[in-house]
Amino acid sequence: MAEVLIDLKEIHRFYGDFEALKGISLKVEKGQIFGFLGPNGSGKTTTIKLILGLIKPSFGTVRVSGGDPYPNNHRNVRKNIGSMLELDGLYEKLTGLENVIFWAELFGINGLKAVKRAKKVIKLVEMSEWDNILVSKYSFGMRKRLALARALISDPDIIILDEPTVGVDPETRYIIRKMMKNLASQGKTVFFSSHDLEEIQKTCTHVAIIKKGKIISNGALNDVLAQFGKPKLFIRFESDFDTDSLGKKLEKMGYQIHVEGPLISLYPKNDLNIDDFSKYGIIDSWKVESSLEEVYLNLVTDKKAKT
Ligand code: ADP
Ligand code: MG
Repeated sequence: MAEVLIDLKEIHRFYGDFEALKGISLKVEKGQIFGFLGPNGSGKTTTIKLILGLIKPSFGTVRVSGGDPYPNNHRNVRKNIGSMLELDGLYEKLTGLENVIFWAELFGINGLKAVKRAKKVIKLVEMSEWDNILVSKYSFGMRKRLALARALISDPDIIILDEPTVGVDPETRYIIRKMMKNLASQGKTVFFSSHDLEEIQKTCTHVAIIKKGKIISNGALNDVLAQFGKPKLFIRFESDFDTDSLGKKLEKMGYQIHVEGPLISLYPKNDLNIDDFSKYGIIDSWKVESSLEEVYLNLVTDKKAKT
């Protein structure tokens, strides 16, 4: 089994009387791109702050690379982690390059080594042509990219990003997604929060869904899809076939169906046999696995989620 780099056990976190995290457990293994998905206010940032050792759990244990990340000045743990939070904390009056060099020095990288390393990570996020410009002149997307470069300064094995692509321009989004994949292909571990389902489905190997401080689903992306998603069956009939009448019959039989011209789509039940339709002149039929969006909506909206 792969090495567990982030291990949260039964974490509760209160803000005053309010319980923001209600006993969450999750493990992130080396090499995973782990997407942490949930609506606003569900506890994503709180979880990330716990992993970074910026706050302490009320109950439960947090382990990162085997150690307790709290308080955040624990050098060994921290050196191994790069992070980007919603607020970037960049210095407006320094250039991009100066900001990253300053950060390098905090990690004990100095002199020419710091300059070289800073230029390298700035190049990775495609910001080299802006590195001598003051950060106060940067757009939001440019700031995000620089913050990501800064997160990589110590060549960390674990990269934690809180909503990295929220509100950014398409080019920045593309660069950030590409970076996450590159990092994972080098054996690094990426943990990021998002409420963008498409992004999670496109980039992640693993996913946890959090709702109101509880994890309601957690595992390999395909397992989560298979567990909570239903495959949908599409059947295409001859163009002159009366799909409307057949649709009505199927509806009476209890199927949730959708008719569009010669195409009928439905969620098959166990007793459905495609051969029963063959007399109607089927042109073709195929199944489509549900998207993460469907799974998420099923789990997160109250009408269906009972887990
Ligand atoms: P997310 O990042 O998923 O939007 P957060 O972890 O920021 O969620 O917040 C989870 C819940 O905890 C929210 O209801 C939020 O209002 C509350 N919360 C977060 N930080 C604080 C704080 N410092 N004091 C009081 N309540 C907080
Ligand atoms: Mg947040």
